[in-house]
Amino acid sequence: MRDDFNREISYLRISVTDLCNFNCEYCMPEGIEKKDHSDILRIEEIENICKVAARNGIKKIRLTGGEPLVRKGILSLINKIKSIDEITEVAITTNGVLLDEMAKDLKAAGLDRINLSLDSMDENVFRKITRGHELSEVYKGLESALDAGFENIKINTVLINKVNDNEIADFIALTKNKYEVRFIELMPIGSTARYAKEHFFSADEVLKRYPQLELQENTDKSSPAAYYKLPNHKYRLGLIRPITCNFCSNCNRLRLTADGKLKPCLHSDMEIDIKKIACNDELLEKSFLSAISQKPEKHHLDDGKYIIRGMSKIGG
Ligand code: SAM
Ligand code: SF4
Repeated sequence: MRDDFNREISYLRISVTDLCNFNCEYCMPEGIEKKDHSDILRIEEIENICKVAARNGIKKIRLTGGEPLVRKGILSLINKIKSIDEITEVAITTNGVLLDEMAKDLKAAGLDRINLSLDSMDENVFRKITRGHELSEVYKGLESALDAGFENIKINTVLINKVNDNEIADFIALTKNKYEVRFIELMPIGSTARYAKEHFFSADEVLKRYPQLELQENTDKSSPAAYYKLPNHKYRLGLIRPITCNFCSNCNRLRLTADGKLKPCLHSDMEIDIKKIACNDELLEKSFLSAISQKPEKHHLDDGKYIIRGMSKIGG
């Protein structure tokens, strides 16, 4: 399905819950309000939405949150989505802690890919960012995912000035023979926008510090990352620059929030409420077509226009 700017829309990112077992300082404002169960899409509703989405061109689905692995029924959801003919890939983005107990079941359910968010490899800094959680739990989860047979796990690291910018070399070192790493620029979103402005660290600064990084050919035009590599390193380093380098012209995604709002763009407050019609295929199809046709050409972050919903409420 193509939008008005000739972009093929084939990727749906679904936030399966607003809740999280972490409380990262750049993502979750303190004292987050808990939603009523009835306001959140049921697992069967998400399944049906995925079926209709697949009939309208969606091929890849990523489950995120909040923390997707705290959502009850996540394994059966993955399994059901995997059984939809048109869907070629089901992935999750996770903070990794629950992988220790769930990795084998996730593999058995048919999960194809894992992106793991890791913002520091220093125990104290990790505790500060996550407001009190232990790095060792994430490492345990990562080990279990590898043991369960997940390959090509990508590490996503948000660049945070004066918090983790002194670890850039350590993260780049992981690309030597362990993981693909992607540095993400901190985005001003929701009530943590002020923190983002105070702690913004440009991905271009990474290139200045490491001029030996070689730009790689872009094999996936819809990926928001530009890829680099150090000579003799096995894996790539991705730079995701929503602020300093707009990648909207290749955007292929829609988003669905945990409370059932279909969003044509992460950085726009435009949303279509599909909670009440989640089991009505005809109306759902109309909503998908409408979301695709309303997809903005680009975001307006550089004009200082920020959205109101926080990242944990949209699904990063
Ligand atoms: N809990 C899961 C996790 O942390 O991977 C999934 C949800 S989290 C919102 C998804 C991704 O969004 C994480 O990699 C997180 O670092 C990123 N994120 C959250 N707030 C962000 C912000 N303001 N700017 C850039 N990335 C952000
Ligand atoms: Fe939770 Fe992920 Fe947000 Fe951290 S970044 S608070 S782990 S949703």
